[in-house]
Amino acid sequence: MKERIYIKDLSQYAGQEVHIAGWVNVRRDQGKMVFFDMRDMTGYVQCVALPSREQAIEKAKDIRPEWVLNIKGLVNKRPEKNIKEGVVNGDIELEVLEIEVLNKAETPAFDVVSEGYEIGEENRLKYRFLDLRRDRMQKNIRNRHKVVKFIRDFLDKKSFIEVETPILTKSTPEGARDYVVPSRIWQGKFYALPQSPQQYKQLLMASGAERYFQVAKCMRDEDTRGDRQPEFTQIDMEMSFVDREDVMNLNEELLINVVKNIYSEKEIQEIPFPRITYKESMEKYGTDRPDIRKDKNNPNLLAFCWVVDFPFFERTDKSDNVDTSGEWTFTHNPFSRPQDEHMAMLMDKKDIGDILTTQYDIVLNGSEIGGGSIRNHEPEALEKVFEIMGYEQEVVEKNFGHMIKALGSGCPPHGGIAWGFDRFIMLLQNEPNIREVIAFPKTGEGKDLMMDSPSDISEKQLKELNIKMGK
Ligand code: ASP
Repeated sequence: MKERIYIKDLSQYAGQEVHIAGWVNVRRDQGKMVFFDMRDMTGYVQCVALPSREQAIEKAKDIRPEWVLNIKGLVNKRPEKNIKEGVVNGDIELEVLEIEVLNKAETPAFDVVSEGYEIGEENRLKYRFLDLRRDRMQKNIRNRHKVVKFIRDFLDKKSFIEVETPILTKSTPEGARDYVVPSRIWQGKFYALPQSPQQYKQLLMASGAERYFQVAKCMRDEDTRGDRQPEFTQIDMEMSFVDREDVMNLNEELLINVVKNIYSEKEIQEIPFPRITYKESMEKYGTDRPDIRKDKNNPNLLAFCWVVDFPFFERTDKSDNVDTSGEWTFTHNPFSRPQDEHMAMLMDKKDIGDILTTQYDIVLNGSEIGGGSIRNHEPEALEKVFEIMGYEQEVVEKNFGHMIKALGSGCPPHGGIAWGFDRFIMLLQNEPNIREVIAFPKTGEGKDLMMDSPSDISEKQLKELNIKMGK
């Protein structure tokens, strides 16, 4: 057969013989003729097997949805009355000359032609490889790719470098429970999976990277909630020699450009993005994630805003998971720096509840899609934060000794941000939850129904790790 042509390009080959490959989308047997739609990653085309083409019509009678075919065919212009306006390949059809079956398919567990919202999600997740074939899911993952690529190119042009940081790391106090991994070589010791690359990215600033980013996987062992996943993706950044304005402006420029270049049908409500203080937001909207859309029925309206001036500390709530020993804990990030005029309050441990942090959150249509801060780059200031949180000197040394040393090694002032990338894509794609924009998500209960994980491990594996199961 000739070189394969992508389905989206077929109309350029009117009157010619071509070879396509893909999946049978739908099939309509009309007695003498068989109509079916073929699908590849680029689009759909209607195919027709005529009685005069013996090999083609015989094979076409056998084929079923989701079979994989090679097809030799003739690209024909459709008669005027059969043209479908506004549909890709609506003006052509492929007259099938030869069919080669590359693989058969069992009757699919569900329809992949519809949008899929009507199908039970457990079933969709169990057969995710089928579910992803539907047009809507293809668009979600393909647009996600476009956004990531755009971000990488944008940041590269702005002199950022992408650095991978470890997945096997150490427990850190960032607000959630860690996933832990037992070490075989060091029995009784554990790695933790990163909740975010926070410490590593700051250590990179101490290492002279100056401008870092990463498309980073983060893992948090939290009780499940609607749009939370045990693992999720951040667009993580850190920059040296910057203040709050620099980080916010760069991110605002990037967000605007993502929308303009990839979602040109969408409208940003207000540029520059409005800035709201935490206090104002709580008073006016009763939340720190205000939905400031002027028209909530418009699916193409994007209302971004920044929320700033959060309190640094709050009174400890003994019921949460944060490892706190004292009366105070951080509201966002223990590594943040207070606002300049509140630095003295931190160093003197005075009016702790009134200290404002440099934290900035970026909110889109009432969802927090990112947050960051300028960090404490002097070791004494970070030590004060831990003191206020009631950590003993030894605890600080044991858990954060490396951070204190790095800050004291000639670490430049720095700050950064991380976007909750799944949620951002969810909003751009107008999807109701983040599972729709993640190729292989877990269920609300943290299960991978397709792989059947979490799962048992063998006696041998347990033995190697010296782990005994309790009753
Ligand atoms: N590491 C922080 C987080 O995961 C974000 C940041 O401050 O850069 O929320």
